[in-house]
Amino acid sequence: MQTSKNLPVGGQGLNPVPMRRHWEITGVVAALVIAFSLPHVVNQYWAQIATLAFIYWVLIAGLNLIVGFAGQLAIGFVGLLAIGAYTAAILVEKAGWPSFVALIFAGGAGALFGFLVGLPSLRLKSFYFAMTTLGFATIVTQVALGWESLTGGGVGLPGPIFPAPFDTYGGFYYLCLVFALIATYLLANIAASNFGRGLVAVRDADVAAEAMGVPITRLKLVTFTFSGVFAGVAGALFASRQTYITPDAFTFDLSVLFFIAVLIGGRGRIVGPMVATVVLTLLPEIAAPLVAWSTFVYAALLLLVVLLVPGGIAEFFEKFIAPKSSADGIGPRKLGELAAVVGKTQRKGALTVHGAALSFGGVRALDGIDFVVRPGTVHGLIGPNGSGKTTVLNAISGFYRLNRGTINFSSHDLAAKTSGERAKLGIARTFQTPRVVGNLSVLENAMLGAYARFETSFGEVAIGLPKGRREDGLIRERARRALEAVGLGNLANFKAEQLQHTEQRFLEIARCLVMEPDLLLLDEPAAGLSHTEIEYLRSIVDGVRVLGISVLLVEHHTDLVFQVSDDITVLNLGRVLARGTPAEVRSNQEVINAYLGA
Ligand code: ADP
Ligand code: MG
Repeated sequence: MQTSKNLPVGGQGLNPVPMRRHWEITGVVAALVIAFSLPHVVNQYWAQIATLAFIYWVLIAGLNLIVGFAGQLAIGFVGLLAIGAYTAAILVEKAGWPSFVALIFAGGAGALFGFLVGLPSLRLKSFYFAMTTLGFATIVTQVALGWESLTGGGVGLPGPIFPAPFDTYGGFYYLCLVFALIATYLLANIAASNFGRGLVAVRDADVAAEAMGVPITRLKLVTFTFSGVFAGVAGALFASRQTYITPDAFTFDLSVLFFIAVLIGGRGRIVGPMVATVVLTLLPEIAAPLVAWSTFVYAALLLLVVLLVPGGIAEFFEKFIAPKSSADGIGPRKLGELAAVVGKTQRKGALTVHGAALSFGGVRALDGIDFVVRPGTVHGLIGPNGSGKTTVLNAISGFYRLNRGTINFSSHDLAAKTSGERAKLGIARTFQTPRVVGNLSVLENAMLGAYARFETSFGEVAIGLPKGRREDGLIRERARRALEAVGLGNLANFKAEQLQHTEQRFLEIARCLVMEPDLLLLDEPAAGLSHTEIEYLRSIVDGVRVLGISVLLVEHHTDLVFQVSDDITVLNLGRVLARGTPAEVRSNQEVINAYLGA
């Protein structure tokens, strides 16, 4: 029956994510109704405050991708607002260009400087990067102050006036509202796409993101450029609303306002930051005496949020709406789905590790290792703790560079390839300690596996081309099947952080399967699993081998390794101690002495 489906009795009923959607949709509809009727309800003064909120939101929508999604501490975005404002004002006032053309160029200038602001984020860690953005904002206002012939210095410049019907306060209100809606639409499209998931992965699990082939450098720079456009356009609108712009309009307080609107609203959310933008814009108006204290008030607000509701407004409301899960765990495994997830006919060749050597300072982690993983076989890699197993996987997946030796996969020399390129070649891996993106749903985590396979570009996704949605739908379906295959089908909509450790191991495997890998590197997948779960793991490994995928299995559960492997290599102290079939290795006296025990 239809109604019983919604009761929170089984795994199906406890879906926090769809409930979040309901909440967000309701909020959006209410906001739209209020926004469109506002100039008819309130006086000019308040309509102009609302206009300001829309302009701020245009900027904050873009900044949200940087701060909320990608987790970059970009504080000085007021600098980009100033760039946009001065570009528009100068082009209109000094060059006599039409306002809308000037606005487009303001967006372009924002893009250029957004890119430049983003560059240091590739090298610098959080706080140092935050400092560079603040420095940038200071430089912009100083240049605006000093370059009098162009900017009017401290006297300033008139802001652009948009042509009728946008030249009245009411018309301008609706113009800014439309820009705010466009910004929201673009943001929502990116947020719901593989790019949005990729940004959150960069924030919460960058190593896993890299292993999935998320091009972190490029993604960051594209996002900074994109949010620069938002900031530049917001600047042009801001200049128009100010009627006259001077450098002191672009205060440090404003920068802080933009930044904390995202944090108070909730990282990786849309409606929360939107509400926060409105509240923070209104705050000085309703509590005028606070203006002198605004820096203090912002700091206090930020502290309160960080301490009490680290997830921001959005999470605060979700707490009431979405029940905390009591996940009923791993369900039935539909191994039949494996073929649908990774099914393809042509598989790649062997993995050949030859003379691999790697030292960390004085520690010889790998000391000349040779082995071959034949196509379509399971190769067990065993040995005592510290013998170099994880280091081998890191070298294969591109996290470490060898000092000596080569790694070839299907006749590609991997030496010069990045982790992302190796992922594209079909090398997927799990981690000894599971690395999932806690704030994404289980399904979204699995979808990350296909990141490198997406063909729709950032721009195409932003404007919402059907092509992107279709592609997303196909990947979503494949990810759902991968989850079914590993038994996580009924947990698809839970946040990954709600999963138990063992479930996260299976989620990592599902994420790898969505990559359609040719080579699967598993780092102690059975650690912490119960006896039945190990049996499931065995059937999954068997299942993917049948489909022609090679598996390199690092594992301490020797029963599992001897059962499932075609070949085994035993490492000890960074060298190969023995190799052969399970039977040969099991009876090798050296292996028994060093590892298996009597
Ligand atoms: P295993 O996975 O077989 O337990 P590892 O490959 O993790 O072993 O480690 C092999 C050796 O290399 C250990 O002595 C370990 O301390 C060292 N090692 C691994 N990674 C690093 C690193 N990033 N820095 C320094 N030493 C490391
Ligand atoms: Mg290890």
